[in-house]
Amino acid sequence: MTPAVIAVAITGSVPRKKDNPAVPVTPAEQVESTHQAYEAGASLVHIHVRNPDESPSSDPALFARVQEGVLKHCPGMIVQFSTGGRGRDPASRGNALVLRPDMASLSTGSVNFPAIVYENGAALVTDLATRMAAHGVRPEIEIFDLSHIHGARRLVEAGLMDERPHVQFVMGVRNAMPAEEHLLAILLGELRRVLPKATWTAAGIGANQMRVIEWALRRGADGVRTGLEDNIRVSRDRLASSNAELVRLATAALDRHGRRAATPMEARRMLGLAAAD
Ligand code: ZN
Repeated sequence: MTPAVIAVAITGSVPRKKDNPAVPVTPAEQVESTHQAYEAGASLVHIHVRNPDESPSSDPALFARVQEGVLKHCPGMIVQFSTGGRGRDPASRGNALVLRPDMASLSTGSVNFPAIVYENGAALVTDLATRMAAHGVRPEIEIFDLSHIHGARRLVEAGLMDERPHVQFVMGVRNAMPAEEHLLAILLGELRRVLPKATWTAAGIGANQMRVIEWALRRGADGVRTGLEDNIRVSRDRLASSNAELVRLATAALDRHGRRAATPMEARRMLGLAAAD
């Protein structure tokens, strides 16, 4: 069976404990939630950190605590920091890259979000990509719109990343790209034309989470993404009990498609990362 990288986005900027008490907010909660997800089959963790009042934070000290806990309790797991997210000062979004996580998310263009413009101007994108290259951090390119694929291509041409980036299509953010299967097909066609060596995955927001996982697996994606950042429910009337529960749903989807969860070692190989220390 071909392995698939299960990425778990444990926290994000938006869901609060009042929305779902299972959302991990303190570094200790985040490490514990990641460990459960790791045991359930996740090989990559996507991390945002929060201040004590749950507002989004860029504090490298918080990122460091989560990174340290994951390294200790989840051997080999790929650590990916977010450089995006709402409510953060743009100038501070790359502050934690000095900690050299394995990967960091990188949005290559701007897009409308539910209540804000998610601004990723060309200068900021270049700055973040330059800092990632300087610290040996592999980017995961976040595609919120078709033009963002071309934004990624420009970074390759500028020598800021190699020709085999890992790309994630994000579908179902309100005011941005709708979660429609034919749109995933169009995006994937364009990615294969513009960056034929790229590996890819897709994220569906809210009730689209499992739907997008299915569409991605149907098209042979290298990975899938789940987690409470994107979706806090397992059904219309039941909240997810943990990130691990969402990972188990992803694992079941893999099974239906004749795939299995990649081990951390396999995931590293697939995404062009060095083996863990
Ligand atoms: Zn995120």
